[in-house]
Amino acid sequence: DGIGKTYPARLGSTEVTAARDVSFDVAPGEALGIIGESGSGKSTVMRCIIGDEVATQGAVYLGGFDGGATNVLTTDAATRRALRVSQLSVVYQDPAAGLNLKISAGGNIADRLTAAGWRSYHDIRARAAALLDRVEVPLSRMDDVAGQFSGGMRQRVQIAKALATDPQVLLLDEPTTGLDASVAAGVLDLLRELLAERDIAVVVVSHDFAVIDALTDRAIVMHRGNVIESGLTDQLFADPHHPYTQRLVAAAR
Ligand code: ATP
Ligand code: MG
Repeated sequence: DGIGKTYPARLGSTEVTAARDVSFDVAPGEALGIIGESGSGKSTVMRCIIGDEVATQGAVYLGGFDGGATNVLTTDAATRRALRVSQLSVVYQDPAAGLNLKISAGGNIADRLTAAGWRSYHDIRARAAALLDRVEVPLSRMDDVAGQFSGGMRQRVQIAKALATDPQVLLLDEPTTGLDASVAAGVLDLLRELLAERDIAVVVVSHDFAVIDALTDRAIVMHRGNVIESGLTDQLFADPHHPYTQRLVAAAR
């Protein structure tokens, strides 16, 4: 609700207002897209939601569709950490941001489960195996170091880790950017299937309207920190009003 973020001035640079008055909601089972060109403020908004950055304005509410929303930003640090582990998950563009590339694929998922309170070695192994199977990572590779995996495979492991604790909210920041076209298409197909299977609230950040179109129901368009257009993704894609949105759509066609 009304998220704004101004990064303070640093030596050699003035302050930057990366987001202004950004508001949206996303319900369980629904996916919302945030689209805009590089530097428009998409990742800033996402980082404010998960608490990697502190928003300078506004509030982020979790829950509330069945009454009693928690303002994530004003909860104490311990509660925020707990929410971050159990209810909010992120898949980053860069697998190194979401995975420990020095340990195994299974170990990455085990870490996440352990942080969420899982204790039984047997349960953790079984859960990790089931998740890797679901994202189509061969089980023979469960104990291989994640850093040895291809880009597409790393993204699959990152997705498995993000879903490990059955979060209420899943945030995807450019989940397929930087992958070869055919690999990206495979990851996109997987994400589409996974989202259809789950009652999870999803936020997808991308500069690519094709990704937003494939994954989301509604979208907001960001330009220089402002929301300039929003609506049903199909409608935005078919009939964009703002010239900037028209350019983004043309680039994806
Ligand atoms: P991209 O598509 O390149 O990922 P984006 O839409 O995610 O872009 P942001 O990363 O949110 O954009 O950046 C928005 C603006 O805020 C940019 O002008 C960027 O330079 C600035 N910015 C981002 N992070 C910081 C930071 N930690 N300190 C200062 N300025 C920042
Ligand atoms: Mg970004």
